[in-house]
Amino acid sequence: MAKEFVGKSVAVVGAGWAGCAAAMELARAGHAVTVFEAARTLGGRARRVEREKTVLDNGQHILLGAYHATLSLLRRTGVDASQALLSLPLQMRYPQGSGGMDFVAPRLPAPLHLAVALWRCGGLARADKLSLARFSSTARWAGWQLHTDCSVSELLARWDQSPRLIQLMWRPLCLAALNTAPDQASAQVFLNVLRDSLGASRSASDMLVPRHDLSRLLPEAAADYVRARGGSIRTGASVKALRNIEGRLWQLDISGAAVSGNWSTYFPNVVLATGAAQAAGLLHGIPAHDTSDLCQQLTALEHSPITTCYLQYDASVQLEQPFFALLDDPEQQRWGQFVFDRGQLDAQQAGMLAVVISAASAAAALPQEALARAIARQLAATFPLPALQQPRWCKVITEKRATFACTPGLVRPANNTGMGGLLLAGDYTTGDYPATLEGAVRSGLAAARLITGGTV
Ligand SMILES: Cc1cc2nc3c(=O)[nH]c(=O)nc-3n(C[C@H](O)[C@H](O)[C@H](O)COP(=O)(O)OP(=O)(O)OC[C@H]3O[C@@H](n4cnc5c(N)ncnc54)[C@H](O)[C@@H]3O)c2cc1C
Repeated sequence: MAKEFVGKSVAVVGAGWAGCAAAMELARAGHAVTVFEAARTLGGRARRVEREKTVLDNGQHILLGAYHATLSLLRRTGVDASQALLSLPLQMRYPQGSGGMDFVAPRLPAPLHLAVALWRCGGLARADKLSLARFSSTARWAGWQLHTDCSVSELLARWDQSPRLIQLMWRPLCLAALNTAPDQASAQVFLNVLRDSLGASRSASDMLVPRHDLSRLLPEAAADYVRARGGSIRTGASVKALRNIEGRLWQLDISGAAVSGNWSTYFPNVVLATGAAQAAGLLHGIPAHDTSDLCQQLTALEHSPITTCYLQYDASVQLEQPFFALLDDPEQQRWGQFVFDRGQLDAQQAGMLAVVISAASAAAALPQEALARAIARQLAATFPLPALQQPRWCKVITEKRATFACTPGLVRPANNTGMGGLLLAGDYTTGDYPATLEGAVRSGLAAARLITGGTV
């Protein structure tokens, strides 16, 4: 096994959004950073996927104006967020005639934007509107904080939310934000997201839809940032084992498509920014350290899938809005929860629709062709566009471990492993947010700051 020694430096294992955030923060503070990424493409669970000559993502993503850490990182890389992201006001709009509602916040200062959106909202009865106003005032009064966490369904029942508001607003929001069904989702984490979006300034509630593919949006710009500060990014390099050498150094055993044979390298500090399951695998194998409690915490996290179905229609197909909520009903084979018109994000993708299904276990169990056909039928029945009768092609992408299931009272691991110089980063570490880009970025920054602050 060839050996290589890297002096006073930091290894970041994994170039998802957490690893990219950590690498940027470390490079900014003057550390020599080496990023090892097993895949060829940067971005992890938010990355570009290519289908023949079409650039897709592994899943349609949406950001919020409340993603302050992510947006400030984007600015630091030089990405112009106003170009790279389509900014839309807070909304929950269903297609006309589908039996949904039309909630859209005007660009007015908070909380006036919500009051006016509610007042104008079509498709809700007075009782539903009062129910929403009651939720907002109760949450503010409680400081968005629960004494004891419970499920979102329990919270909605306790705060007397109407069935229609639950169906049209709270359930889809909960699925989109936590990727967990309301009867299993953490009410406290749901409130955290609402506090920072609905409960904050108007711009924090904006919905930001990427115009660029997800690898280009942050990870590749982050890689350029790190390289420009002397760091290096090694893709196709998978860390197979970690070993502590005399309490001073970490040995990383590496192999992969871009590495000939096995190879070891040594760093005083390592940020392990893989997913939780891979982190558990690496920690479990560390000789002479009892990592069993931490590994148990990591492997106890349950996962929830997300499916995105891309459907390419004639380039003339255009929806009235960049995205719509859809009335899903799995019993009727109506799986789609949201539809995005990719042509309104990027002219190259005219006629392409992306349909998202969160907490997608049931949908993901179907054969992909059957699921795509059912989604195409749902779209054709929802929008009065003749060209929607037959897509030219469909591509179904299911990420089985898209996020952890964000359940009440979930105990998540800290960044600090307690083993000198070894930090965890990822959307699953302890924090206010569910598994999101912002959660991942915050975690990466926190891990990096433990190193730059000299506290590990
Ligand atoms: C389909 C889908 C839709 C989503 N929608 C949204 C959304 O709309 N909004 C939102 O905010 N969030 C969304 N999310 C969640 C968000 O994408 C994730 O929370 C975030 O990308 C997680 O980033 P991470 O860096 O923590 O982990 P990951 O992205 O999993 O990064 C880990 C990286 O480590 C690498 N790796 C693993 N093992 C090794 C090893 N041994 N050696 C080297 N490298 C290794 C992996 O290849 C990967 O690149 C969605 C996720 C999915 C999958």
